[in-house]
Amino acid sequence: MRILIVEDEEKLAETLKRGLEKEGYAVDYLMDGEAGQRRIETNYKDYDLIILDLMLPKRNGFEVCKNVRQADIVTPILILTARDAVEDKVYALDEGADDYLVKPFSFQELLARIRALLRRPEQVLPVELNIKDLNLNSSTRRVTRLNREIPLTLKEFGLLEYLMRHPNQVLTREQILDHLWDFAFDSFSNVVDVHIKNLRKKVDGEYNEKLLETIRGVGYRIKG
Ligand code: CA
Repeated sequence: MRILIVEDEEKLAETLKRGLEKEGYAVDYLMDGEAGQRRIETNYKDYDLIILDLMLPKRNGFEVCKNVRQADIVTPILILTARDAVEDKVYALDEGADDYLVKPFSFQELLARIRALLRRPEQVLPVELNIKDLNLNSSTRRVTRLNREIPLTLKEFGLLEYLMRHPNQVLTREQILDHLWDFAFDSFSNVVDVHIKNLRKKVDGEYNEKLLETIRGVGYRIKG
């Protein structure tokens, strides 16, 4: 799950990024409305949620929200507002925001709102994924093969889930990077290969049938 934060208070943005990363989300942040809107327009497919401040330099959050919705981008938007004015919230929701939080807010409350917003696509996607004898439950975060539990790190879990949601489909390093890592990693980094290697050890290591395939020069896939 990847989140974009558009927030001009750098300290707040940094704190949110660090906190959310600890919860297993990949997070990018931008500090003005213009850059935020541009990133959303070009990269909206990479993000599962946008956290948008209202009072921003260059372009305010209302405008960003309105323009993004006019471009038919439906990614959930959670508004942050310093003002407790009722008309602000109503206006933001009218412009297509999905929810709002008034600053200052507790991190726990932010997490609860994020989970609620992300639950919508989860209802459409199956919680339980099965490929041959490999089973992944995205709600309990439990992975088993032949009913034996496989302990995975958050990133390994995210990677396996992404592959299992696209069985038999080759996913490129770029696609995997875009889905699971933030912009701090460039495509020359071998972070994907390292995680695949570790994942393969755990998922395929001691089993006869190998499920994870490397497609040389292209990427990776899981055999369904
Ligand atoms: Ca602000």
